[in-house]
Formats: sequence, structure tokens, C-alpha cells
Amino acid sequence: MKFEALQLIEPLITALHQKGYTEPTPIQEKSIPHLLKRKDMFGCAQTGTGKTAAFALPILQLMHEDGDHAKAPYVHALILAPTRELALQINESFDAYGKNLGLRNAVVFGGVSQQPQEAAMRKGVDILVATPGRLLDLMQQGHIRLDRVRYFVLDEADRMLDMGFIHDIKKILAKLPDRKQTFFFSATVPAEIKSMSDALLKDPFRVNVTPVSAPAETVQQFVYYVPKEQKRFLLKKVIEDQQIEHVLVFTRTKRGADRVARDLTKSGIKAEAIHGDKSQTARQRALQGFKDRKLRVLVATDIAARGIDVTQLSHVINFEIPEVAETYVHRIGRTGRAGASGIALTFCSPDEADYLKDIQKLIRKNLQSVPLPELPPAPPRAEVPASGQGRNHGAPRSGPGKPRRSGAPSYARSRKA
Ligand code: AMP
Repeated sequence: MKFEALQLIEPLITALHQKGYTEPTPIQEKSIPHLLKRKDMFGCAQTGTGKTAAFALPILQLMHEDGDHAKAPYVHALILAPTRELALQINESFDAYGKNLGLRNAVVFGGVSQQPQEAAMRKGVDILVATPGRLLDLMQQGHIRLDRVRYFVLDEADRMLDMGFIHDIKKILAKLPDRKQTFFFSATVPAEIKSMSDALLKDPFRVNVTPVSAPAETVQQFVYYVPKEQKRFLLKKVIEDQQIEHVLVFTRTKRGADRVARDLTKSGIKAEAIHGDKSQTARQRALQGFKDRKLRVLVATDIAARGIDVTQLSHVINFEIPEVAETYVHRIGRTGRAGASGIALTFCSPDEADYLKDIQKLIRKNLQSVPLPELPPAPPRAEVPASGQGRNHGAPRSGPGKPRRSGAPSYARSRKA
């Protein structure tokens, strides 16, 4: 299919050809016709799918049809993005696609001087790309008003929530007019995102461009059935015994990621955690260290791990099982890339049995179970005993069994940060 078939106007087609794009990506093909009819949209899509053009092209075309310009401090289109990198990238896309239209776009984000952003606003901005914090600052000082927004994009909504922007977003939403076209993008759909999008979108059409169910054939998948309290001993043991040189470990929560990284480091295995509460600089440093192989273990939450592209990653460990089965497929897809073989190890505690069942149903096979190695028993206060002390029950378990009723606190809650 060609862009012409999507009813895009000539100035946009020319700009796309100048960028070297000949055909729309699937998300562009599926969504542009609906968006040109001014429908709201829920896009379940990650960066890399061409989602920016999927919303930028219709917005530019509709604003061109509207035929007017915004008067400072008002803007007509608002695109909210979680990070300055993404905001800059989106603004550059508007520069490129809109170059023949005469609409004015600008970007604002924190961590830099506010003056040039104020000056840009004073000149008049039709399309504003912004991160939440700086936008609110500029709004509070009267430099930006949202009452006349007609097009509103919330990009990477799940990452926004993960980075703790929920209150900022609520404040921004409260300032937007009721009548507008809303474009909502999120790569994952946890309950919070579902309720937020339900509240925000009117009769939206939905596009999902990452239907995943088949992990790479090249990934060997194993499961250890292990009590929650012993997972950290198992992790250390597995990394040491199998001489794993380079591994990405997944946890469900940010605190869990911190704990796992701290425990490993304490026991002599260099590890760092990345998640939404860490500064961008800290995340980039950890990621670079991992890519350069100076860091052996990277512990990540699902959202923070997005976009991590590490070649020749031999192992992925699911320290905790994701609640959504598709996430498992995304996780283990980090290894076994480009035909290389990879190994995915999943630690399943009794309370996670249902999640594992969902995964096995989705991928249509049962993970191969591995007997537990000898592990120290987990003391209730989760002190690490000297190695060799105590025994676990050794024998492989046939299944996850029933949830434990013992009063022992779970690993996730047993230690003070
Ligand atoms: P995004 O998911 O919006 O971050 O886009 C991912 C990359 O694909 C960006 O570098 C875009 O410039 C590029 N891109 C977007 N649409 C197309 C297309 N139709 N053909 C080729 N590349 C594209």
C-alpha cells in the first residue's frame, strides 16, 4: 500500500517521500483513515512501529483543514511524552512531516532554561510537544493555555505512570476542553491504563500492533518451582553454577528490582537495577555498562526494559512471573535474537501458578521443569545464612502446588529497604 491510498494531502506525501518513506507501517495503515475522520484512538504499540507518524500525519492534515493558527498563549494540539528524548524526537517528526504546511510546532521539557521556551510560546505555537512537569510550570506562569486544544496525544501512557507522572497528568487533563480528538498510546494495558483510557476516550477505535504469542524457536525455556522466599538463593546459585556471564533479570516491581540487585551485589555478583524511579542518567549508565559487558547482571521492570537492545544476550531470568502472559513473550524475546540461541529461566512460586498457566496456554507448550539445586532455607527475617547451611527439599516438584500458608513473610516484603 502507498501513502496516497490513505487520503493524505500532497504536502504531506511530498514530505514523506523526502524522508524516504514509501509505504505506511501497519499502525499507520490501520489508524490514519480513522483518525482523518476525527475518531479517538487507543493504540497499543511500542516505539519503533511508526506510531509517531500515525498520529502526527492526521493531526497535521486536520489542522491544515482547520485553517487557523493558535494565538499565544493558546495551543491547538498538545502531545505529552514521558521523557525529553521522546519529546524531542516527536517534535523533529512534526518538523519533518509538516515542513510544507506552515504550522508552528515547538517542544518544552525540564532540565534546561525556561527562557527560550517562553520566547517560542510568545511567537505562537500551533502544536506543542511537552513533558508533564515543565508544561505545568509554564501553564502556572501563564505562558501556556490549554483551553483551545483540539488534538491531544498521550504517548507512552504506561511509562508515564511508571515514572510517577499520574498527578501531573491529572492536573493537565483537568485543563483540557471536553471537545477534542484524543490519541492514547500505551505499549501495555495494566488496569490503571484501562481505566484512564476509558475515562478519556469517546468511542475510540483500537489498534494493536504487537500481537505476540510465539517466542523465538531459538529460545530454550525452563521453569524452577521454588518457594518465594528462596528465589534469591536460587538466583545466585543459578548465575554461579551455570557460569552465566550476561543476564537480564525481570521483576514485577521497582522495589523488587532494587532488592534483587542489592542482594546479588552483596553476595559478590555485580548487578544494577533500572526502573522508572531511577534518573535517566542512572538508567543510561547501567544500560551502557551492561551493553559493554562491564555489568554482568541487569535487573529491570518490564517498562524500563523496553527498548533495551543488547546483542548476544544469552540468558533472561524471570525472577517474578508477569501477570500478563504476553509480557513473558516480550521478556524472553530479549534473548535468542537474530538466530542466536538463548535460554529463559522462570522462577515460579506457588502464588504464581496461575500466571504460569496463562503463559503456557498462550505459547501452547509447557515449560520444561528443572529440579531445584540445594538451597539454604529461607529464614523468616530473610537473613542470608552462610552457604552450605541447611537444606531444601531437593527433589523436583511436579507442579507449583498450593499457596503456602506458613506465616513466613514473602521475599518481597520481608526485608526493609
Ligand atoms: P516511531 O515508532 O514513531 O518511533 O518510529 C520508528 C522509526 O520508523 C522512526 O525512525 C521513523 O522515522 C521511522 N518510520 C516511521 N514511519 C515510517 C515509514 N512509513 N517507513 C519507514 N520508516 C518509518
